[in-house]
This record gives sequence, structure tokens and C-alpha cells, in this order.
Amino acid sequence: MSYTRAHLAELGLTLWRSRAASAAEAAPVADVAEQPAAAPEPEARPTPVVPARPPTSPPQAQAAAQLSADRRDEEEAEAARRAAIARMDWAALEAYVKSQSRGDAQQAVFGVGARDARVMVIGEAPGAEEDRRGEPFVGRAGQLLDQMLAAIGLSRQRDVYIANICKFRPPNNRDPRPDEVAQDMPYLQRQIALVQPDLLIAVGRIAAQNLLGSEEPIGRMRGKPQHFGDARLPVVVTYHPAYLLRSPREKAKAWVDLKRARSLLTVNA
Ligand code: URA
Repeated sequence: MSYTRAHLAELGLTLWRSRAASAAEAAPVADVAEQPAAAPEPEARPTPVVPARPPTSPPQAQAAAQLSADRRDEEEAEAARRAAIARMDWAALEAYVKSQSRGDAQQAVFGVGARDARVMVIGEAPGAEEDRRGEPFVGRAGQLLDQMLAAIGLSRQRDVYIANICKFRPPNNRDPRPDEVAQDMPYLQRQIALVQPDLLIAVGRIAAQNLLGSEEPIGRMRGKPQHFGDARLPVVVTYHPAYLLRSPREKAKAWVDLKRARSLLTVNA
């Protein structure tokens, strides 16, 4: 049995009707029998309710605007700092770097050697001994570095300038953090621009990766032609002397790298 609306109304049940259907029902009907059979009326769908997005509250919008303004200010200040460093002469650069401090480091370790050297040796960051004495590569690793340089006829005082990527000793000899590298890289870039060497020797993974903007392991970076900066300054990548002290068998590979450095200097002499 099918129930009509009237049946359901008797049972006290009301069905939802579209406005059009109700209006048609209310209209006077002349003669129902004469009416053509009405096409079944499509059920009108209720308009879906789309939940309104909560409006961004003014304090949130203000905080977001403040954040992006702060970020813009920081970026502008950093660009100005880099531009000022890029114009400094030796005296201004050294004084500026030495006026800085970081964490527990005793002092900035600026760099040492001949400021007109043909070769720059780039290390990672000062260790405990370097932090104490304010000079790069003066511990055991530094002594081995001097021997490596002597093997290709170079002396620390006369022929090379030595500097690190980071000018401050990271606590507990950890790797320098990216923010520390970002802070100190402009100093090294300016040192390289002032020395104008013919060749860079990057010792160790941290120095090589940061100098070359690479994430390759050092074993893959060494032995390949590498270049630094827009001037495409040649870079020889080799193992860090501290690593060679721990792994003396790798000295043979370091010797290959040093010979390559020597031949690059001879070619460009
Ligand atoms: N290791 C470095 O990379 N630099 C130093 O100055 C000393 C040790």
C-alpha cells in the first residue's frame, strides 16, 4: 500500500514540500479530473550550507604583518652588513671580526700568513689550541698542515694565507652550525678578495662543502676540478690534517691532492 500525504497527515505526520508544490496545492482547482497528470515534481534540494571561514582576526593579521616586516628588516640589515664587509680593507675587517664574540669562544681567530699569498688554505673552525692562541692551525693538526705545505715547497709565513670558514671555536669541537657559517662566510669571502690568491686548498669536508656549496662527501669532491665564486678560482679539496692524524693510510691520497695543487700553481705561474 502506498501512503498519500493525506493518509500520513491523518497519522499526524507531515512531509516536507517544496514552496512551488505548496502554492500549487493552495491554488483553486477547477476540475481535478480535467487536469493533465502532473509530472512528478523533482524534490527541491536544500541549499548546501558551506561553513563560513572564520575571519582572520585583526590581532592575528597584525602579528603576521609585524612578523613579515621584522623579517624584511632583518634581511635588509643582513644585506647592509654583507655590503659593508665587502668594502672593508684589512685593518677594518680584522678589527671588526675581532670585536665580535660567540658563545664560550675566548676570541675570534681571524687568519694568518702572507696577505699577498698565491695560496690560501681554508680550514673549518678553530680548535681549543687555536682558540687559546688566536691563530689558526697551531695544534697537532696545524703541525701536520705545515709539513704538508713544506712537501710542496710552501711555508706558512711566506707563501700561504690560512683562514677558517668559522672564526670562532664551536663548543666541544662540534661542527659549525649553518647560522654560524652564514655569519662568518662574508669575512672569509672578503679575505679571499683581499688576498687574491691563485689557488684555494680546502682541508676537510666542512671547509670544502661550505666553500663550494656542495653536500657531496669529501671522498667524491677531492680529485675533481673545483672552483670558487664568480671568478672561478681553482680549489683543491683534500683531507683535514686532523683526519690524517687519525687515518694515516689516507696520507697517500692527500699527497696526490697536494701534487695537483703544486702543478696548478706551476701552470699558472
Ligand atoms: N682545524 C681547523 O679546521 N682549523 C683550525 O684552525 C684548527 C683546526
